[in-house]
Amino acid sequence: MPELPLTGGCLCGAVRFEVTEPPVSAGYCHCTRCRRRTGTAASVQATIVPGSLRVVSGEELVRCWEPPSGAWKCYCSACGGALWSRPADDPTGASIRLGTFDEDPGIRPSYRQFVAYAVPWEPIPDDGLPRFDERRPSDWA
Ligand SMILES: [Zn+2]
Ligand SMILES: [Zn+2]
Repeated sequence: MPELPLTGGCLCGAVRFEVTEPPVSAGYCHCTRCRRRTGTAASVQATIVPGSLRVVSGEELVRCWEPPSGAWKCYCSACGGALWSRPADDPTGASIRLGTFDEDPGIRPSYRQFVAYAVPWEPIPDDGLPRFDERRPSDWA
């Protein structure tokens, strides 16, 4: 188990954050928004305990795209690096992009969601993770 708090940041380093509790779960999202947001086939992210994310620097640079439905997509406005999603109705929740952590965050991806929208140019690996055509029940990222 990694030491807490977990630390991480954006590409340019202006936004730095801490996570004070071990993440709850992690998974891949193959939805179109995650594809466009990251420019990759899928986004891998960890859902955290509500209230356990603390921005320690660069908070003024964090912007969120607020889609008409679904979670906000937050990023650093200086470098464009994706940071996390937030449920529109709960500012304490977050699903943090795994690649933003400095060190091993301890958790491992345990599912794949929105696989009905997966790209044709990168086959989903045969990794044994449960797959959900749409949103995984109880997830919102
Ligand atoms: Zn940045
Ligand atoms: Zn997604």
